[in-house]
Amino acid sequence: MTLTIDTQKLAALRTVFQRGSAAQRKFHIQTFGCQMNHADSEKIHMLLTQAGLAKVDTWEEADIVIFNTCSVRQKGEDKVFGFVEEIDRLRQQTGRDIKVGLTGCMTRKTGLNKKYYDYQGRKNTTKIELLNLDQEKKEKRKEKKAGISLFNSDDELFNRVDTIDFVVRIEEIGALTTLLSIMYGEDIGQDDAFQSYLRVRQERDASRSANIIIQTGCDNYCTFCIVPYTRGHEVSRPIDDIVGEVVESVLQHGTREVTLLGQNVNSYGKETRKNLWNAGELTWVTSFAKEVSEQSEDGGFFTHNHIPYRDDLKLKAQELRKNMTWPEKSIWYQVLRKDKLSGYRFLRQKPLLEYIVDFYCDELKIVIEIDGDSHDFQQDYDETRTKEFSKYWISVLRFTNNEVLRNIDWVYQKLVEFIRLNPQSRSSTAPLQRSSVTPFRELLEKINEVPGLDRIRFTSSNPHDMTRDILDAHFDLEKCCPYLHFALQSGDNDLLKKMNRKHSYDDFRLQVEYLRSRDPLFGISTDIIVGFPGETEEQFENTVRAFRECEFDFAYIARYSPRKQTYAARMPWQVPADVKAKRWDRLNSLMYDIIQQRNQLMIGREEVIMVSKIDQEDGAISGRTRNFKEVFLPKNDTIQLWDLIPVKIIGLDRWVLQGRVL
Ligand code: SF4
Repeated sequence: MTLTIDTQKLAALRTVFQRGSAAQRKFHIQTFGCQMNHADSEKIHMLLTQAGLAKVDTWEEADIVIFNTCSVRQKGEDKVFGFVEEIDRLRQQTGRDIKVGLTGCMTRKTGLNKKYYDYQGRKNTTKIELLNLDQEKKEKRKEKKAGISLFNSDDELFNRVDTIDFVVRIEEIGALTTLLSIMYGEDIGQDDAFQSYLRVRQERDASRSANIIIQTGCDNYCTFCIVPYTRGHEVSRPIDDIVGEVVESVLQHGTREVTLLGQNVNSYGKETRKNLWNAGELTWVTSFAKEVSEQSEDGGFFTHNHIPYRDDLKLKAQELRKNMTWPEKSIWYQVLRKDKLSGYRFLRQKPLLEYIVDFYCDELKIVIEIDGDSHDFQQDYDETRTKEFSKYWISVLRFTNNEVLRNIDWVYQKLVEFIRLNPQSRSSTAPLQRSSVTPFRELLEKINEVPGLDRIRFTSSNPHDMTRDILDAHFDLEKCCPYLHFALQSGDNDLLKKMNRKHSYDDFRLQVEYLRSRDPLFGISTDIIVGFPGETEEQFENTVRAFRECEFDFAYIARYSPRKQTYAARMPWQVPADVKAKRWDRLNSLMYDIIQQRNQLMIGREEVIMVSKIDQEDGAISGRTRNFKEVFLPKNDTIQLWDLIPVKIIGLDRWVLQGRVL
């Protein structure tokens, strides 16, 4: 049974009801799950405050309690039902009328509990006066088209716990005040301006770090995920609207950091800007990166460590520097010296690992060898050396004596081309046409220009939609922080296919390599699922290997939990709980070790943290660096929440860093 709302009639009824009564009503929102849900709760907060209701911190004080739910795990859902029961006990003990509503990922429909209307006698029910029943059929068609229907009392949530009063799909949040109006039999804050989810702004509690929703929904249909069913197709907010909200937030709340939120932020705007979406042009993988990767024994993974060398080679290198051959002198003086190659600095006769190389540029991670056999090493020197260097993401470029002496211009051109294709190269963005930047890059550029803002972050991104210009934004735009969260889910390509993920592990790894080759301390976090249906030991080992190779700074590791309505829930070979638990433990301890290694690299560095927490009891202060590392400081009364504080990293404390104020 589905009824519909006539908004015109609602508007007319405003005059009948006293607005004042809503002003005394209080609401409480309890949020579960991800940042997106927290941002959605801010929207609900905004909507209800505008409608004249007051926010309270506990449900004991509230007239309306809204649970913004998360369905990633069954446990989360059970918790919500437990809370609903607790509220019901409170109702019975106190005799108070507390309305309970659910929104977020657990809700599939928007609707009211049956008790709010009577099918037979509805024309006589005051609450139903709010509906234009004569128009029902016509409206029904319209609403069906718009995908909204308010009287889904058949939603299975009501069957499960009949003390729930209403459910509202987050995308239909504009209907919330209509639902409240019907339940209370009076007009509560109906305003057409709030009827569209993306147009509802968020209410911030003067936070200097604001979450801003830029996009919602998802078209990817990963087989384990219910988001496409609960949030529908991808829809993006207009760029000016978002930038306007950022500016407003900076001016009104002194916001210094924004996090742009969406299920798939890096495909932002694809539905409206198809012409700009030129995947071929924007594919970030250069032929160079691929080539080096394929050549090297272990896939050319970049380890970011300082490149060591044998101390005794220093003296030998000095000697060689004095006695350069003619071809070496020629390339040094005519090509490499004095910033002839776009300002890149080359070193002559440089000791690296067990070798001395003719020329080396650290920025580009390129070794140039002339003839390649000028030093007295064993015969397989070149091959071994190239492999060893590739582990450090160093490429070796060789020219023969003759090539250098006969045609130095040709050598120069080859080098220019090599640098252009090199992922470490500053000029590597050159082939991208400005007219072909993705809408998301365009948005980042605009937000980057907002005065007063210090930091831009975004989440969540999808590897298969990632483009080179978005990765480069972290280096080109000074406010865009060197941190990226994007979901790998599994290190096994077959499993990724079963998950309907559209990237391979190799795609993902190359993106990681690219980011870390430009900044070894670039912070990367990811999502991993262990125990996906049919995951074999071997496939799990591929995830372990991926974890080691990508050296994640953090990962949200989830044991696969079947979600009704998803394809994966019906797949055979569900992995037993104890196996999932074992795999989860293993990956967690590996993550701990890797975080220790990664955090070690931060020690001694001077960073700026944004203070996000001051402990009420001991006054301990914590905040994040630009690359999203959490740093703790001892109590300091001069420091306030959201201050930007320069610190020196002085130690590790399990998962986090310890700092000292500079
Ligand atoms: S990309 Fe996949 S996991 Fe992410 S929201 Fe969409 S369907 Fe869900």
